[in-house]
Amino acid sequence: MSFAELGLSDKVQQAVASAGYTEPTPIQAQAIPHVLSRRDVLGIAQTGTGKTAAFTLPMLTLLESGRARARMPRTLILEPTRELAAQVEDNFDKYGINHRLSVALLIGGVSFGDQDAKITRGVDVLIATPGRLLDHFERGKLLLTGVELLVIDEADRMLDMGFIPDIERIVKLVPFTRQTLFFSATMPPEIQRLADAFLHNPVKVEVARAASTASTITQRLVATGREDYEKRETLRDLIRGATDLQNAIVFCNRKRDVAVLHRSLQNHGFSAVALHGDMDQHARMAALDSFRTGETPLLVASDVAARGLDIPAVSHVFNYDVPHHAEDYVHRIGRTGRAGRSGQSFTLVGPGDEKSLAAIEKLIGQPIEWQGPTLAERPPSEGSSRRRGARGEERSRGRKVKVRSSERSRGPSEERREEAPAPRAAQAPREEQQSRRPRQDRGERFADRSHQGRSRRDDDGDEKVIGLGDHVPAFLMRPVLAKKAK
Ligand code: AMP
Repeated sequence: MSFAELGLSDKVQQAVASAGYTEPTPIQAQAIPHVLSRRDVLGIAQTGTGKTAAFTLPMLTLLESGRARARMPRTLILEPTRELAAQVEDNFDKYGINHRLSVALLIGGVSFGDQDAKITRGVDVLIATPGRLLDHFERGKLLLTGVELLVIDEADRMLDMGFIPDIERIVKLVPFTRQTLFFSATMPPEIQRLADAFLHNPVKVEVARAASTASTITQRLVATGREDYEKRETLRDLIRGATDLQNAIVFCNRKRDVAVLHRSLQNHGFSAVALHGDMDQHARMAALDSFRTGETPLLVASDVAARGLDIPAVSHVFNYDVPHHAEDYVHRIGRTGRAGRSGQSFTLVGPGDEKSLAAIEKLIGQPIEWQGPTLAERPPSEGSSRRRGARGEERSRGRKVKVRSSERSRGPSEERREEAPAPRAAQAPREEQQSRRPRQDRGERFADRSHQGRSRRDDDGDEKVIGLGDHVPAFLMRPVLAKKAK
């Protein structure tokens, strides 16, 4: 099938040709004609399937007639994260080169002023995260009664992030007669309920089961210890030993661990950037750009931050943690092995991860091979017997060292500088290594939090890396007697 057969306008077809696409992907071939005929669409598709163009291309065609009115956007696209929203905007830039459409992005971490000015002038396409959209609405700067087409993208991720009440509110603010396009990688019952409520007689378009993993990905499990410092050491060994490593994403379950692991990798001479929900918009974009351009080969990320990011050709995925939700495993490793290229994924498995691992193997319908000894075969780590309690003590090289609770994970191997160098691709530039980055590191950490503002809605779901992280001076750790309330 060719793009010419889908009913897209000439301007859109020209833009698609300039982008170098010759054939529509299955989701595009199936969805575009229905979107153009004004049907509601329920699309079950993961990122990487060409789903963004499946809605942006027909939207561009439909928007060619009519014009925007002040404060009343004509179409609205809801995205769970700022990065995804920014990526959709990029798609409009790319495919909208022959159009003169006004596109506005409403995401956290960007000043209200500029966004307000744009909306006031009138926009054809409004791309927003739910929280920021409601903030604008509550400020009385935005009317949603002119929305002709609503896209709810990554609905299952919206559910994970607790955005469903916001979405339900937004849907009530747009006209009942709108056209709705609803995309989700998976269809748990709660998402099905929303789809039933929001869509009118939709066409269901489904590509590749969410549980399927590409056959081009080599998946391996690697047994590791329970302690964080052991996991970090296992990860470093894996990165060093990886064959054909061009670039890699390292996934952590919690954003706090993203920050800690990022710093640790840098301290060990690896060139890495971090991506988690507590970083301000500028830092996130800078990190992503640096990774995309290949300047920095390692990206340490949380699921939410990395979800759906358009990063072509990642050679390796490392799961520093076994994901709690089996579906996240599929999404994570789906970052590699794209478009027929081969990719490798390694998942660190420690004591206590057995249940999550079993759920993943059940979901993907196959056992994953171990690289090296299995968890059961792995000798018990010295570390766990040496460590005592939450504010425990450890004996290290004959010295008795107090270990703060926040620093418990920093083991002897962490302090020891590695003899074996990081692979060239992942190695930090010389100056960076020499400076050991304490300044930049801390600067980044503070920068990450300095513009946070409210991260209530557009963020990953665990606690922030707060205060001084694990550089808390001892006097701050002393218990403080709270004054009794009168
Ligand atoms: P998405 O699923 O929207 O994140 O798209 C994944 C990647 O596929 C992006 O890099 C798109 O630029 C690319 N893409 C979208 N449509 C096509 C197409 N018809 N042919 C080739 N690549 C495409």
